[in-house]
Amino acid sequence: MKRLAVWKFTSCDGCQLSLLDLEDDLLLLTESLEFAYFLEASSAARPGPYDISLVEGSITTPADVERILEVRRQSRFLVVIGACATSGGIQALRNFVDVKEFIACVYARPDYIKTLAKSSPISAYVPVDFELQGCPIDKSQLLEVIASFLLDKKPALSNESVCGECKRRGLVCVWVAEGRPCLGPVTHAGCGALCPGYSRGCYGCFGPKENANVPSLGRKFREHGESPRDIQRLLRTFHAAAPAFSGRPHEPSRS
Ligand code: SF4
Ligand code: SF4
Ligand code: SF4
Repeated sequence: MKRLAVWKFTSCDGCQLSLLDLEDDLLLLTESLEFAYFLEASSAARPGPYDISLVEGSITTPADVERILEVRRQSRFLVVIGACATSGGIQALRNFVDVKEFIACVYARPDYIKTLAKSSPISAYVPVDFELQGCPIDKSQLLEVIASFLLDKKPALSNESVCGECKRRGLVCVWVAEGRPCLGPVTHAGCGALCPGYSRGCYGCFGPKENANVPSLGRKFREHGESPRDIQRLLRTFHAAAPAFSGRPHEPSRS
């Protein structure tokens, strides 16, 4: 029986809920996996080492840095789940401003707050074995990742863009037909083209696909009359700090 741990860093718990949402499949998994540490589901926390750790959330405090190093030490495989863990999440919007100024605006005693200047993905601090994108992640993709770990094989996940899913569903392209800007061409598949199915453009919650050509899409948006500010706002949501969307490499926060 292999041992699994689920860890939360700075996040909303939505990706852990996707794991709980597996329901009957989750029960089947318990035949081959011991859920040794999963505080979202049980307060019975058993000590490591663990065969696989699922990590949700980004690194935003000095304490997070210490804890992720310890999680890595205790884990044979480390899989990060969700936008927060893979690119810094919504909270990485702080990376574009002076976080000290924000803290001074919000807290009466800012000197009590210990936080880093940036929200960073887990991979900025420790090696990771697999990244599963999405805000939240797709539970079927998560099941494929866990089952692949149990079967000792590579997860069979599509690396196409949302456009591929859109076409297979036979949806009318909201960008071409209605002129709504859509990040589908540069966004990782996984949602089944949810937003175009409701006549909405994709705003990239599954994050950049491999080799996403964002500058090219940006030029097309400009030709269609979108302003640079609107394009920037479209990219700065769930995966604001992903290098493909921000144009900046991930670097660990120094302060
Ligand atoms: S990726 Fe989204 S759903 Fe998952 S923990 Fe972060 S904010 Fe929540
Ligand atoms: S609606 Fe968006 S995701 Fe669908 S084909 Fe058009 S650009 Fe691609
Ligand atoms: S924003 Fe894009 S990736 Fe997210 S659910 Fe909508 S279509 Fe899918």
